[in-house]
Amino acid sequence: MPNVSRWIDAHCHLADSRLDQYRAALVEQCRTIGITRLIQGGVDPDDWDRQLNVRADFGDLIVPVFGAYPIWAGTAEDAVFSAAMLKLEQLLPHARALGEVGLDFRGPHDSGIRERQSRAFEKQLAIAAGAGFPIILHVVHAHPEALRILRKAKFKEGGILHGYTGHLEQAKEYIDLGFAVSAGCGILRGTGHALRSAMTAIPSDFLVIESDAPDQPPPLHLRKAGAMGDLHGPASILVVASEIAELRSSTPEEVLDRSSANLRRIFRL
Ligand SMILES: [Zn+2]
Repeated sequence: MPNVSRWIDAHCHLADSRLDQYRAALVEQCRTIGITRLIQGGVDPDDWDRQLNVRADFGDLIVPVFGAYPIWAGTAEDAVFSAAMLKLEQLLPHARALGEVGLDFRGPHDSGIRERQSRAFEKQLAIAAGAGFPIILHVVHAHPEALRILRKAKFKEGGILHGYTGHLEQAKEYIDLGFAVSAGCGILRGTGHALRSAMTAIPSDFLVIESDAPDQPPPLHLRKAGAMGDLHGPASILVVASEIAELRSSTPEEVLDRSSANLRRIFRL
């Protein structure tokens, strides 16, 4: 076994209140496996407070990331959103990145909601650029619009595109803009040729591994965290890394070492 005391989960939500009863055990599991950093994804102002509490409990293991998740941003009232942006700017010195931000055009969103999401994305790109912070991108069914906004903003700080399950050409568009592509448990469900060839061909310097815990669990037989119902923990990065290793004729350890090195570079950890 290589020295594994160096692995990083590119994206998860350890402060999620659904994990309250499991958090201490999950942290213990991370320590046993050798996962030393958990890069968080911000959701809304309450979540940022929870992240600060969890960080106080578990120290450097927790890498706080604050931002307004697109589904929240798309439905928040103007006054609530403006107050959130003020709070975000105040709290940003306690974070290492801004996110998760982007666009989520799933479901019957009307054009008003989409427009609010786009404005929220632009606003947060400007805040991240001002702070010199990388971002964590959440983009679902909205890649052309997200790429258009990123190009228009001339955003230079990079970051990661989380939960990627698309094809190679699209991944390359983000890589050209300075983003790494983050693979999570979605790749365990997607067996399409386009996704598999993307995961085989993305340059190693631009591929990272995430759990997105407690959401997006691996299929039941691959779960590592025991009885948590439909939830799971950061240990799922091992399962994702095994799948990627098979596709890239590598080993899970090599995949995680490379991912973690990339994350240290991107988030200056
Ligand atoms: Zn997430």
